[in-house]
Amino acid sequence: MSTSFATPMAGRLAAIRARMAAACERAGRPADSVALLPVSKTFDAGAVREAASLGLRRFGENKTQEIRQKAGPLADLDLHWVMIGHLQTNKAKDAARDAFEVQSLDRLELAEALQRRLEPEGRTLDVLVQVKTSPEPSKFGLDPDELPALLRAVARDCPSLRVQGLMTLAVNSDDPMAVRACFARLRQLRDRLRGEGIEGVTLDRLSMGMSGDFELAIEEGSTEIRIGSALFGARDYGGGA
Ligand SMILES: *Cc1c(COP(=O)(O)O)cnc(C)c1O
Repeated sequence: MSTSFATPMAGRLAAIRARMAAACERAGRPADSVALLPVSKTFDAGAVREAASLGLRRFGENKTQEIRQKAGPLADLDLHWVMIGHLQTNKAKDAARDAFEVQSLDRLELAEALQRRLEPEGRTLDVLVQVKTSPEPSKFGLDPDELPALLRAVARDCPSLRVQGLMTLAVNSDDPMAVRACFARLRQLRDRLRGEGIEGVTLDRLSMGMSGDFELAIEEGSTEIRIGSALFGARDYGGGA
């Protein structure tokens, strides 16, 4: 007897869930301790609608313009848009308006810009601080050494932001040990900061792991994996069009 699914996307989602469950099992973690954040960047509103029909509600995007474009035609679905890409300070206004959550907070200047936009509207925003855990020079993210000071400053000066945890991208490498080390670094950093007990900061969430490395991330303590291509298919950035 073979298992069949109504659509290819439904099949891909089931395969991801099975791999998540197996990784949790290997790590001795409860199966419900890891959330899936589908990453819909470059995929159109139709693809997001299909994913929503499979029970998914939060979607990661890396550009505020793309959230804007998709939010309109999908307004009937009450989706939560999560900003996971580098956010320029001059886009803080758009993020404060359209994003349910920002996982790519990597500097105080951005936190203050978000605070200025949120405060007059009496709104709050969940945020994760993106930390650089890989030696690659091109990756965005805060230097781990600067994290305690940033967390204290945000807790003190940005009451509209609720810091819930940390986010990272692992090194882009074929060496699983190098990838795993990035995830382990984020978890250790979190554990150390918890020990220091910064008031107003809980750090319960660790957003780490993507299509190519999520099992390693789960084994290292991820609470949330960000999955694009494994769910939606290969991305076409339209470079040649
Ligand atoms: C694109 C992206 C992802 C998802 O990548 P896949 O390899 O397609 O799963 C996750 N996190 C961030 C920050 C991204 O930009």
